[in-house]
Amino acid sequence: MDKAVREKFLDCFGLTGDQIDTYESFFNLSILPVVNRHFLSHLVTTIEELINEKKKHEFLEHIKNVINSDSQFDYKKIERAVNQKILRLFSIILVPVESGKLKARTYLMGNGTGAMITYWKELPKKQIRILIAHELGHIANKFLFENANLSSGDTIATLFGYITLQDRNNFYKNNVIEFVNESDLTIFNEIVNLCNRRNM
Ligand SMILES: [Zn+2]
Repeated sequence: MDKAVREKFLDCFGLTGDQIDTYESFFNLSILPVVNRHFLSHLVTTIEELINEKKKHEFLEHIKNVINSDSQFDYKKIERAVNQKILRLFSIILVPVESGKLKARTYLMGNGTGAMITYWKELPKKQIRILIAHELGHIANKFLFENANLSSGDTIATLFGYITLQDRNNFYKNNVIEFVNESDLTIFNEIVNLCNRRNM
């Protein structure tokens, strides 16, 4: 942490050096390694949500029918859990693997309730993102478009991957500057101004 910022946390906020060290190492050791494995995270989450949304109606209809014959279930509770995304009907996980036959691959899980994308962990990050975008194309193709099959449609998956990566690329090229602060101290000042007015 920037020395001047650390001093401010110690002097102005009365935090202890131990608290700062604890949270910094928690971030570096527990959060950052996981964040670094979440390639194209917004895209993965969005596709999950769209598939969840698509499966929701059929699932809730099915539950309604089951409940008619067995009153111990509370349908409203289940419906709420699905709507609040506590109960998920589809999830996508990314798994880094040792190099093998294919640089990336998608496996269906749990009878169509999820998909696992594996990728060679030693590849450059840029290549991993490209491979994952393509694999997400297979998943979108199978679950969001009719008449599609997971094992076919490489060209369609590549088309999908291209469209999404092109959007991300334009975002990085054109919009990232909007989110960049001049220095660590600027970040500190901004967060204090926005979130801790009463402490100043
Ligand atoms: Zn493919």
